Amino acid sequence: MSDASWIWRNGEFVRWARARLHVGSHVVHYGSSVFEGIRCYATPRGPAVFRLREHVRRLLDSARIYRMPVAFDEAELADACCATVARNRQDSCYIRPILLRGTGTFGLDPQPCGVEAFILTFPWGAYLGEASLQEGVDACVSSWSRPAPNTVPALAKAGGNYLGSQLIAMEAHANGYAEGIALGPDGLVSEGSGQNIFLVRNGVLFTPALDGTLLAGITRDSLITIAEDLGIEVREQPVPREMLYIADEVFFTGTASEITPIRSIDRIQVGNGRAGEVTSVLQQRLLGIARGELPDAHNWLVPVTRIARKRRAKVAA
Ligand code: PMP
Repeated sequence: MSDASWIWRNGEFVRWARARLHVGSHVVHYGSSVFEGIRCYATPRGPAVFRLREHVRRLLDSARIYRMPVAFDEAELADACCATVARNRQDSCYIRPILLRGTGTFGLDPQPCGVEAFILTFPWGAYLGEASLQEGVDACVSSWSRPAPNTVPALAKAGGNYLGSQLIAMEAHANGYAEGIALGPDGLVSEGSGQNIFLVRNGVLFTPALDGTLLAGITRDSLITIAEDLGIEVREQPVPREMLYIADEVFFTGTASEITPIRSIDRIQVGNGRAGEVTSVLQQRLLGIARGELPDAHNWLVPVTRIARKRRAKVAA
């Protein structure tokens, strides 16, 4: 993250330090943005973006929920993500597209404000610490719950949603945990501050269903697909809190967190306190595909260079 890098802004590249907003922008006051978190992996065939189409689709879905007009379509935004990675000459990075409401009104209906689109790319290692993917993390159940359905829409990945996530993460850190697990308004397990959660018991994988309190994680979807490929039974169902304590294995999934094993919850050891067998098999499979080391049977990787080359051809023509 330096001024040597470029940010895509409304279809043009600007230097990192010049991608500024006015303090009167609606987003600053009311959290009116929708965004994505995407990973680009270094593969033997060059940088490749993991599940780019699904992330861009979710971005536009979030915009639709918030009645946000977007000047770019799915293909243009996907192309712009790859072009930003290529422009910044990154092999692996995190990609953060964001659509936000600019200036126009301080009233709560944001529709007089223009929508601005930005794409940032920057290096980001393991979200919960370098050792977390192997050793696992200590988590707690948060005293903060996820919003009820029909309050703040959980399927939209919107800036304002993350105030609750900040409370969950800060409380966990203040109490010496790496991450918090939030319950839904019904007291059942929902998700982490920025991750979905899975449990393994007797070889079966459990995860809370999309019940209106959690984000439809793209890593969650990848994980379910991989588990099915491997013949592992997956049950999307209500998960009572105490299932966390008696599970054989528990792990988080997310673009930033990838698959992070959880070794203890509320100071109760999970399984043998190390990454479990099922967790490790799924983690190796997912990261193997993302890093281009295993066959990409589901066509999840989008090579950056191919798109960037196509773009250059378009400019030349
Ligand atoms: N839940 C929340 C609240 C998140 O912020 C994220 C990260 N985007 C996830 C779950 C995991 O989603 P994904 O696998 O698509 O990154």
